Amino acid sequence: MKYIGPHVSAAGGVENAPLNAKAIGATAFALFTKNQRQWVASPLTQKSIDAFKKNCIECGYTPSQILPHDSYLINLGNPDPDALLKSRTAFTDEMMRCEQLGLDRLNFHPGSTLNKIGVEECLDLIAESINLSLEKTTGVTAVIENTAGQGSNLGFQFAQIARIIEGVNDKSRVGVCIDTCHAFAAGYDLALPDGFNACFEEFEKLIGFKYLRGMHLNDAKKGVGSRVDRHESIGQGEIGVAAFRLIMEDSRFDGIPLILETPNEERWPEEIALLKSLCVK
Ligand SMILES: [Zn+2]
Ligand SMILES: [Zn+2]
Repeated sequence: MKYIGPHVSAAGGVENAPLNAKAIGATAFALFTKNQRQWVASPLTQKSIDAFKKNCIECGYTPSQILPHDSYLINLGNPDPDALLKSRTAFTDEMMRCEQLGLDRLNFHPGSTLNKIGVEECLDLIAESINLSLEKTTGVTAVIENTAGQGSNLGFQFAQIARIIEGVNDKSRVGVCIDTCHAFAAGYDLALPDGFNACFEEFEKLIGFKYLRGMHLNDAKKGVGSRVDRHESIGQGEIGVAAFRLIMEDSRFDGIPLILETPNEERWPEEIALLKSLCVK
């Protein structure tokens, strides 16, 4: 079974996210559990938590159909000790919010060297950050997203993600989310069947599908290997619809949230319907 839906708004409270997803025919959704542009958020109220859980049940969403995303401010590989602590504290808070909401995974961008430390040193800091958050929480998996490799962001090569996982003590609570736009921008040519197969063969070899906890389905505005993180609507960009057909026909992508982070919100119902239609072989 394929679970498909966009990153929806949680304006007015997290409890509105499942309602927003249901309204457009989504069978999965992503959300921010707090304002993603602020470091500190007021705690979730019990009323909001209860309403979120109730709405998820009523709209038919289980935790395996929901992929919360953390704040963009967080850098779990920050070379500056004070800034690193700030990021670690914020990340643990986000993991706890997921736990409170009964969710089982949190998607995040691994981190950035800020051109101040080496790649491996930064990857090790990220793994240590994950360990610290896992120790303070239960039941929530830290889901590492591959990046486009823009700036000094790490996680654009599967080998880098594999190294982070290697440093995580509890392997049962670390996972991966592959963003198709980011993979394409990082040089995996998903537009061609050979490139698509090579990408996921490498993923299986270096990381393994057992770690796959979600996908971000985005077409790309820029060409393969551009290292530019600019999403496009499905079928409107440089990747094209064929790659998404391959995903929809492939059972390795079953049972996890497949999330649209495409720019044109008005097209979401159409994109969901298109992807659902591609599932039928
Ligand atoms: Zn993404
Ligand atoms: Zn992106």
